[in-house]
Amino acid sequence: MVFIQYYFALGEPQDRALQRVQDTTRFFLSCRKILDGCDLLPAIGIVAGGTVDEYEYMNLMAEAVANMSSATEIPHNMITPMLGFDWASAWARSRAPLCPRCAAPHEEFDATTWLCSELEVFETCAECDTTALIGDWDLERSSFARTNCCVALRDWPSLPQVAAEVHAHALQLIGCRARYLHGGL
Ligand SMILES: [Zn+2]
Repeated sequence: MVFIQYYFALGEPQDRALQRVQDTTRFFLSCRKILDGCDLLPAIGIVAGGTVDEYEYMNLMAEAVANMSSATEIPHNMITPMLGFDWASAWARSRAPLCPRCAAPHEEFDATTWLCSELEVFETCAECDTTALIGDWDLERSSFARTNCCVALRDWPSLPQVAAEVHAHALQLIGCRARYLHGGL
C-alpha cells in the first residue's frame, strides 16, 4: 500500500504559489527520520532543520514547473511539488467530504465542476442545510481537491501522528487556506 500525504492551499494567487511551494519543498528536504534502533523499523519521528540537497531541490522544482499545465496524478517521488493545474486525492482510501457543521458525509459530491474551474463551488449539506465553500468542508480523505499550490509526500510516516510540529509548520508554509489530505492505493 502506497501512503500519500498532501499539503496544499486553496485560492493561492499564482505568483505567491511558486514561492510557497519552493519554501515547503525545501522544508521537507531538510527533514530527517528518527529511527528507534534499526533501519527496518518504522520511523518514530521526523525532524526538520537538516541540510537541503540543492541538486535534488532544483530537479524537483524544475519538474514541477515543466508540469504546470498538466496534473501530477499519483505522486511518484518521495517529495513532489505541484504547481498550476493539479489536484489532491485520497485515491483508494477516499470518502465523501464531511459537512463543516454536522460532519455528515456529502455522498452526492460531484467533483466535475471544480475540476473544470478554479473557482470553488458552494455545497449544501443534506442533513443540516449548511451551505459552505467546498474547501471549507472536511476534505481530509476527499477523492478530489483542486489546488495550484501543493507538496505531496509519498510513503512518509503519518506526520500528524509522529511529527505534529513538522505537520503544523508545513501547513503554515503552504498557504493561508492550508489543507491536509491523505490516502493511498
Ligand atoms: Zn451538515
